[in-house]
Amino acid sequence: MAFKKVKNRSIDKDLQGATKKSTSMQGLVVSRFGAEADVELEDGRLLRCHLRRKLEGIVCGDQVLCEVQQGSKTVVVSILPRKTVLDRLIRYQGVKPVAANVDQICIVVSPEPEFSSTILDKYLVAAENAHIFPVIVFNKSDRLQDYPEIEQQLKVYADLNYPLLMTSVIENTGIEALKQVMQEHTNVFVGQSGVGKTSLVNLLLPGTDALTGGISETSGLGTHTTTASRLYHLSGGGNVIDSPGIREFSLEHFKKEDFASGYREIFEASHSCRFRNCLHTSEPACEVKARVKNNKIDSGRYQRYLKLLSEE
Ligand code: GDP
Repeated sequence: MAFKKVKNRSIDKDLQGATKKSTSMQGLVVSRFGAEADVELEDGRLLRCHLRRKLEGIVCGDQVLCEVQQGSKTVVVSILPRKTVLDRLIRYQGVKPVAANVDQICIVVSPEPEFSSTILDKYLVAAENAHIFPVIVFNKSDRLQDYPEIEQQLKVYADLNYPLLMTSVIENTGIEALKQVMQEHTNVFVGQSGVGKTSLVNLLLPGTDALTGGISETSGLGTHTTTASRLYHLSGGGNVIDSPGIREFSLEHFKKEDFASGYREIFEASHSCRFRNCLHTSEPACEVKARVKNNKIDSGRYQRYLKLLSEE
């Protein structure tokens, strides 16, 4: 299965005649940069559109309505309701959406840099809170033999029914399985720096300058900013939305309650706690603490949950 890139399609800057009336057309935002966006219409045409000021929050993955206005200018007039939205805290700007309608987050971890259950937990919390299906991608599996302790740590996540894929870009293993898991979904890659996200994206989307997010070379529409996010189609169905900003998004804007609901086994147990707003710290009749004591909830996960709460 190969990836199909939207950038190879020629872009209809002014619709060349056919649709010059002011009727709304539905499309998918495949790139967003400054006050413009590239929108793929349902018939496959790609349009560069201006954005109304009030629609500045448009992001890749959004379904939008656009209209051709005077002078053949195409304008996005509204955003259709989103199924999911991935937010990010941007310095001096607050919480902003970075991608819409994503339904699968590929969380990339590796043995080098050091495998961190804390960071993995944070991404899982983000995915659970955004109601987006997480997949753990353990990359650099070719290095696993030097880190025998990691297998036990990974087992905790497999026991929680999180899908876990082992990949190696160097040995080209696990890549076909990853492609299959990504098929029919709109995916993003996240994970700390150095785990191999760029290497994976470059392998999955050959010809894309994933390192910079650069997409200008064959789009036919001139140069985009190198930090633009971009949606790519999978040839077998499904998409990948990628940008440096998405790959390293953080949890800084999360609240205490979000952590409790982001640990799925804690959330599940919390329904049996005496208090509905139980934070599972020192409250009486706390089912979470009881399950930790009985080894039904992994104590490492519980300790990391407590640490996240105290950092908030
Ligand atoms: P990113 O910061 O997550 O985008 O990580 P990069 O893709 O830039 O990779 C960081 C380093 O890890 C590079 O030197 C890659 O060549 C290396 N790397 C990536 N994937 C693998 C892998 O599967 N195995 C090994 N041994 N090294 C890898």
